[in-house]
Amino acid sequence: MAKITKLDDIVALCKRRGFIFQSSEIYGGLASCYDYGPLGVELKNNVKRAWWKAVVQMRDDVVGLDCSILMHPLVWKASGHADKFADLVCECRKCNTRSRVDHLKDGPDAGPVAEHTSHVSVGAGGWDLSKKVCPACGAVGQFTEPMAFNLMFQTQMGANVEDAMTVFLRPETAQGIFVNFRNVLDTTRVKIPFGIAQIGKSFRNEVTTKAFIFRTREFEQAELEFFCEPGTDEQWFEHWRHERFNWYLRLGIRKENLRFREHSKDELAHYAKACVDIEYRFPFGSGDWQELEGIANRTDYDLRQHQRGMKTINAWIESGKDLSKVTLAPEAEDYQSGPLSYFDDQKRCRYIPYVIEPSAGIDRSTLAFLVDAYDEEEVRGETRNLLRFHPPLAPIKVAVFPLVNREGMPDIARNIYDDLKRYFNCFYDDKGAIGRRYRRQDEAGTPLCVTVDGQTLQDQTVTVRDRDSMEQVRVSTSQLKDYLRDRLEL
Ligand code: ATP
Repeated sequence: MAKITKLDDIVALCKRRGFIFQSSEIYGGLASCYDYGPLGVELKNNVKRAWWKAVVQMRDDVVGLDCSILMHPLVWKASGHADKFADLVCECRKCNTRSRVDHLKDGPDAGPVAEHTSHVSVGAGGWDLSKKVCPACGAVGQFTEPMAFNLMFQTQMGANVEDAMTVFLRPETAQGIFVNFRNVLDTTRVKIPFGIAQIGKSFRNEVTTKAFIFRTREFEQAELEFFCEPGTDEQWFEHWRHERFNWYLRLGIRKENLRFREHSKDELAHYAKACVDIEYRFPFGSGDWQELEGIANRTDYDLRQHQRGMKTINAWIESGKDLSKVTLAPEAEDYQSGPLSYFDDQKRCRYIPYVIEPSAGIDRSTLAFLVDAYDEEEVRGETRNLLRFHPPLAPIKVAVFPLVNREGMPDIARNIYDDLKRYFNCFYDDKGAIGRRYRRQDEAGTPLCVTVDGQTLQDQTVTVRDRDSMEQVRVSTSQLKDYLRDRLEL
């Protein structure tokens, strides 16, 4: 029976074993920014690889893309982010701390806040803050009126004053896909229904960050925009919600820790027809269930908006490239045949496709995989810490040890290691007692350890030890690679 994991245990293990460090730690750290260490980068790369394999490699109807983080400012005007991507915040009159209005709780002894809210559309009113408590100083009902706080980071592009302009770090990767829709259509043989997938960094100047890598200001997203014919969107929405849910299960997340949460109509983003979150039971927050991934039916909103954006260029130049002075051009009456429409040559009709978007957080799912894999058990009076990673996610697949550093064992072990590392990420260790070496690999989540021992010298077999069961079997060195590949599901 797996023990209930506390986030503190995970944070401590991540630091101790080099999974995740605080950013700029030697300078006292930079809040809500984290660095992935030697084991962490392998784990995170494996999460991305597993996503890419399931969403792109194994499908005939999805292609990949990698867009730049900085994009034309009008992209954000058209998408709605420049005007609407904001949190409603209020400031405590006592301590001046700003909080997200939808995260405040009734005082005076309120606990942590459940987060079932996405970023709200500006203008949402009707908040009674008279009973709300400041999470920083505990003052009740001392808040200013709610105000909009845009979450996009801004920076300046260009060295010359005349042509320098304000650009934004993208707050989602999706818009890079929409603005390349035409490019992909024109350069590949894709036909609707098809998807474009991308993994990359996004940036949000979150009002409150929390819980380790759960909510940070710089994070990685894996997003798919799946374009389909209007009328088939509900069926594709069903398809993708199940595909994505099963992806987490296939990678070893326990079913009891995963659930869907449907968004109610009044909670939907302005562009969405339907939205469902995949939630994981994290060991923090009230109620624990927190969003891992959202799957939304974005209708034809984004492509239509970018058609308007394309017609806004002159107004933008005339405004002196000042986004705040630009109004988006009205939608053309014949928008259905506009530049971002699709011509179905079998049905001989033209339309703007609908879009189903599964949008996952790579850091959040990495945290979920860590939490779900974490275990402690008593073995012969000692506590064994281990990460029961599903093999494709494990940072190190195989560790190779000589039992002792004599009788030629290190040479044989080295040869095995040199051979295996061409196929899997391997680790060689000849330091300390064998039991301690096994424990170190358990804690790193390495599924299998190979030990060269006295018997190897006689019959060319090695011991293969399993992380989860600690069972040991003997395998001939000539069959070792195939045996490991089988066991690792690679
Ligand atoms: P939240 O309500 O938690 O702020 P959201 O609904 O605004 O999230 P989306 O815009 O739907 O999030 O983003 C898709 C995914 O990207 C989320 O499910 C999450 O996994 C990830 N994500 C979003 N914001 C962050 C963040 N600040 N830090 C880490 N991951 C994030």
